Parts: sequence; structure tokens; C-alpha cells
Amino acid sequence: MSPNPGSDEALAAGCRCPVLDNAHGRGAYREPDGTPQFWINSDCPLHGAASPVEPPPAPGWCVVHGHYKWCEHNGGVMGPTGYEAPADGRKGAT
Ligand SMILES: [Zn+2]
Ligand SMILES: [Zn+2]
Repeated sequence: MSPNPGSDEALAAGCRCPVLDNAHGRGAYREPDGTPQFWINSDCPLHGAASPVEPPPAPGWCVVHGHYKWCEHNGGVMGPTGYEAPADGRKGAT
């Protein structure tokens, strides 16, 4: 259980959530049932959302073969088992 966002304990652990808005860890406001709610900095390593995983690029339409598979015509690269997605940084041949 990580300390509340904005609390001194969280800050000591690298929290980057708003401090004043979270009343130093007491919460920004409370739900009707009393559950404290906090402002979360998405860049916070403790409370922020984990960086979304980049989905692998999808092959574009190959007009030569008439398929949506990687091949030499849409930026695919030859791998050990055939054409596969290009390495990071390439979005397919133009
Ligand atoms: Zn935080
Ligand atoms: Zn093709």
C-alpha cells in the first residue's frame, strides 16, 4: 500500500502528485461514503498510471499481394520466420 498522494511519506518516496491540492495527503475531497479522493499526477512513479504499452504496429495494406500481412511492400522486415513488424521508429515504408 503506497502512501497517500501528496503526503510527506509519498513525497519522500518520489511522489509527484499535487501536495496542496491533496491537502498534504489528506485528500482533495471525500466521496459521500467518506473515501478520500486524490489528484494524481500521471507522471508520478507511485500513483500515476503505468505508461501504456505501445501496441505493435499493424501492417498496412499491401496492394501487391492484397493482404494485411507484413511483406516487403509495406515496411515489413525479414525476420527468422518471415516478414515481421519493422523495428521501432519505422512506421512502414512510404
Ligand atoms: Zn503520487
Ligand atoms: Zn506484399
